[in-house]
Amino acid sequence: MLDMKWIRMNAEQVQRAAQLKGMAFDVQELLSWDAKRRDLLQITEAMRQERNTASGQVAVHMRAGDKEPAERLKEQVRRLNEELGRSEQELEEAERQYRRLLLLVPNLPSDDSPVGLTDADNVEVRRFGEPRTFDFPLLDHVELGERLDLFDIPRGVKVGGARSYYLKNAGLLLHRAVQQFAIDMLMDRGFTIMDVPLMARRDALIGTGFFPLGEDQCYAIPEEQLWLVGTSEVSLVSYYGDEIVDMSEPIRLAGVSACFRREVGSAGRDVRGLYRVHQFAKVEQVILAPNDAAVSNRLLEEMVGHAESILQALELPYRVVAVCTGDMSQKTFKQYDIETWMPSREAYGETHSASNLHDFQARRMNIRYRDAEGQLQYCHTLNNTAVATPRILIPLLENHQQADGSIRIPEALRPYMRGMAEIRL
Ligand code: AMP
Repeated sequence: MLDMKWIRMNAEQVQRAAQLKGMAFDVQELLSWDAKRRDLLQITEAMRQERNTASGQVAVHMRAGDKEPAERLKEQVRRLNEELGRSEQELEEAERQYRRLLLLVPNLPSDDSPVGLTDADNVEVRRFGEPRTFDFPLLDHVELGERLDLFDIPRGVKVGGARSYYLKNAGLLLHRAVQQFAIDMLMDRGFTIMDVPLMARRDALIGTGFFPLGEDQCYAIPEEQLWLVGTSEVSLVSYYGDEIVDMSEPIRLAGVSACFRREVGSAGRDVRGLYRVHQFAKVEQVILAPNDAAVSNRLLEEMVGHAESILQALELPYRVVAVCTGDMSQKTFKQYDIETWMPSREAYGETHSASNLHDFQARRMNIRYRDAEGQLQYCHTLNNTAVATPRILIPLLENHQQADGSIRIPEALRPYMRGMAEIRL
């Protein structure tokens, strides 16, 4: 959310942000409801005062026994009450429209974000590692998984519907190993690790900026007025909702959770294997930072660094891309994605997504701190994947496959894999 006072003074910038992000948002509509609501507030307040004065006079005349003016004033009070009721209704509607539109205002993208409307306009920042060339026939992760009995997708679909799967044996160990490896690394780097609520209330989803625009992506539990989270970012940021936090140091949190996504709009995309599923696991980094662009920018780079360290330890080639304005979400100020080499796709595929939201999310969620002068400030918030699995199993299995059909386990994961150096039947 942006500050309404700021929006009034900078409407053109807001409209430009919507255009850069490819969002159908009309700032003039917000401004006109805002003006209407402020007018109606004044009118309603004036009517209320007039009505109160008239009622007061009714009482005075009644006490003095002046029946005729008392009756006239009573009639006036009745008319004023009617008008006031109408005005209050109009005000309520104006407030509703104003609040609805305020939740749709986009955050401004950073000046250094590439301009463009789709991921084709993302700009590569750097690469690590060389995609391997194979001197034997390459198998994709689905074939590898079937041969080595690592997962079962057909039975997953039988039980859970499309995009469901079972992980088995070393497939499950690998899934857990990458998470535990990420957890250990983030603990060593000063993060507080948390197992979080997977069901959240509407306020948490609105406050973190996933609703109303992303509501169709979320599984609802209507009887309880709860939703399954698509990322632990929802639970981690909401943890401090409506609080004044201690910002003597940035607050580094890591959430470990299952994530649920309806993937509406992805029909027919990435239908093979484990790339795009409805339920996955993620270790997520969240940082609450002071309201200082230089500091939060540095922390964004730091979070990307943690993800890169994980990929390097997994011995996977990857690239970092600066995400263009149109590929960002409503709440994003600046974003990097990390894409890891997936041999069967002959392409880098997104495995991590890092965003700096500036104070957009904390303003919605009302998370503040006192600065050195004792003034209340909204925090900056940032998030990035540490590891998301089973998607990361795709590059792990495919890049580390060997001529005899086995998979080499990177050294760093072996302690988390019962010491296994290879997966073989
Ligand atoms: P996001 O929270 O949308 O930025 O996604 C973070 C990471 O979670 C992505 O880079 C993927 O690695 C993973 N991810 C997101 N959606 C899915 C999905 N439907 N299936 C599997 N992994 C996903």
